[in-house]
Amino acid sequence: MSAGETSAVVKADAYGLGAAQLAPALAAAGCKTFFVAHLAEAVELRALLPQARILALNGLLPHAATDFVANGIIPVLGSLQEITLWRAEALEVGRALPAFLHLETGLNRLALPPREFEKLRMDPTLLEGITVDTVMTHLLAADTPKDERNRRQLQDFLAMAAAFPGAKRSIANSPGIFMGTAFHLDLIRPGAAIYGLNASPIQPRKMRQVARLSAPILQIRDVRLGETVGYGGSWTAERPSRIATVGVGYADGLHRALSNNGIAYFDDTPVPLVGRVSMDLTTFDVTDVPANTGDLLVLLDSRHGADELGQEAGTIGYEILTSLGRRYQRRYIGA
Ligand SMILES: *Cc1c(COP(=O)(O)O)cnc(C)c1O
Repeated sequence: MSAGETSAVVKADAYGLGAAQLAPALAAAGCKTFFVAHLAEAVELRALLPQARILALNGLLPHAATDFVANGIIPVLGSLQEITLWRAEALEVGRALPAFLHLETGLNRLALPPREFEKLRMDPTLLEGITVDTVMTHLLAADTPKDERNRRQLQDFLAMAAAFPGAKRSIANSPGIFMGTAFHLDLIRPGAAIYGLNASPIQPRKMRQVARLSAPILQIRDVRLGETVGYGGSWTAERPSRIATVGVGYADGLHRALSNNGIAYFDDTPVPLVGRVSMDLTTFDVTDVPANTGDLLVLLDSRHGADELGQEAGTIGYEILTSLGRRYQRRYIGA
């Protein structure tokens, strides 16, 4: 069995971490195939990676085919309408055009619906001028690896893929990769795992957290017993307290749902987030640590990563990373 290929999913600005820095680093590490969602993202990526194979997961809108060709972007086609558009473009440019085909196995979002798949199977001329490089599908319950729907999707996908004997096959996102080699096929499509998210939540973390986030304390104030902190006065001091304010808020991806419910680290000590998270500011109870103005509170690192922050916010690490926003001063190391 030949080893499959590892691509990189760098949509949403590489999950918020900066595609302009990360994609070239991944390419330098040997990655040749990159996925984004939109054509516009693909075009930006093309400027950074002149040699890479770049795919747009969200498919082909009417009138977009020319831009795909002009920028050497490959669409992931998920409907007969998209196939027809791409076929017409191939005719127009007078050469075969490559594509990935997205086959429906249960997500019911963008992949080729069963009836259209049947039509395609019965009439291969619909694909004239299109080189189906790879057929792919996407797991609907990959975050619960034991869920037998994952295995059923794999089976259904392999049965459908048999209709395209020349095409490579791809099913696994990050958690799919950890479900075993049966899911690896010809191409794996990790996003989350590359960025250090825990790709397989029921197993211990396998990937190293790559993003670290800290913010200086802008002010520390003494709050008397019974006083409140922040909008709505949702936190009341039950003892005389020292409250540190940092200049990071929900506009920076510290979700408002973390109000009274998150932590940061001061050195080795977790300090509780108190009061509501506001747009640009968040408050922490530093009564028990020797914090001073200008000291850093660590909001995100390997002890307390995006997954943990996501859990505290009632969401997932993916959403934490992709909402970090543009106001941080970013330093890229080790690339
Ligand atoms: C986003 C995406 C991926 C990557 O998923 P991760 O869980 O982040 O690895 C793979 N395939 C498709 C179709 C996607 O939309």
